[in-house]
Amino acid sequence: MTAKLIDGKAFAATVRAKVAAHVAQIKEENGITPGLAVVLVGEDPASQVYVRSKGKQTVEVGMNSYEYKLAADTSEADLLALIDRLNKDPEVHGILVQLPLPKHLDSDLVINSINPAKDVDGFHISNVGLLGTGQKSMVPCTPLGCLMMLRDYHGSLSGMNAVVIGRSNIVGKPMANLLLGDSCTVTIAHSRTKDLPSVVRQADIVVTAVGRPEMATGDWIKPGATVIDVGINRIERDGKTVLVGDCEFDSCEAVAGAITPVPGGVGPMTIACLLANTLTACCRAHGLREPEGLTA
Ligand code: NAD
Repeated sequence: MTAKLIDGKAFAATVRAKVAAHVAQIKEENGITPGLAVVLVGEDPASQVYVRSKGKQTVEVGMNSYEYKLAADTSEADLLALIDRLNKDPEVHGILVQLPLPKHLDSDLVINSINPAKDVDGFHISNVGLLGTGQKSMVPCTPLGCLMMLRDYHGSLSGMNAVVIGRSNIVGKPMANLLLGDSCTVTIAHSRTKDLPSVVRQADIVVTAVGRPEMATGDWIKPGATVIDVGINRIERDGKTVLVGDCEFDSCEAVAGAITPVPGGVGPMTIACLLANTLTACCRAHGLREPEGLTA
């Protein structure tokens, strides 16, 4: 069997188009433009690239983008004061503080100071609790993108066995909660899991969020299973730096029913879901109809 390729790049384009259409409609009918504020502290090169890309795509779908670039030695008090201002600003519907923050700043404190209704990353403790109890919340972007692709491919996920490898707050745990919300039987595997390959072989759906290049090989995968590879790893191959996932693509593709590539799979969906979350936050703030198919 050769797996069907789940094209995250193309799917992300359809999500952005849906967002843009809904944004145009609420601008026209309600005179409201959704706004996303992104806060970057310091000069981490990867974070700078992400923030630029987020700002560009925000504008492309017709929303307002506000960027705040703060010096690496910004005090916690100054950062919290900025977040307080953004929390109160009616033009700002979404606030994202780019992680990781410099070490002298308490990330949990900073994230939990964001108004949960504007927490478009879905990392605020209130949103984590709401998701965990099956209530309406802001959902973390990467797992939301994975869920959208799975629903699109399978329709209903009800009753499927899902194994999520990785238990981070950003990907693994919210992913498991979302799959549980869609009535999967969910196993969360991690670095201490015994005989990981045999656990993964039980899965109809495998989500890998580990950060270990090509860890999962084809012999881990149940024939016909759907593989969602969240991992982004840079390795040297044939004298070049290349991006690979947590799955060894060729051997997994030969066994799986469907698989996301790296790059071009989960990655592009993450920013698309950030835009979707900003639109959702704006609609909720103004009591407007929420876009369909863009939330959990
Ligand atoms: P993390 O380091 O916070 O968590 C990694 C998890 O993997 C941990 O829970 C750990 O228990 C588990 N793990 C480590 N070694 C393991 C092993 N040998 N066997 C089984 N489990 C093991 O990472 P994260 O933030 O969740 O990110 C995971 C990967 O996803 C990284 O490669 C990251 O770059 C990527 N990522 C991609 C996107 C995207 O937009 N595509 C977004 C976020 C993260």
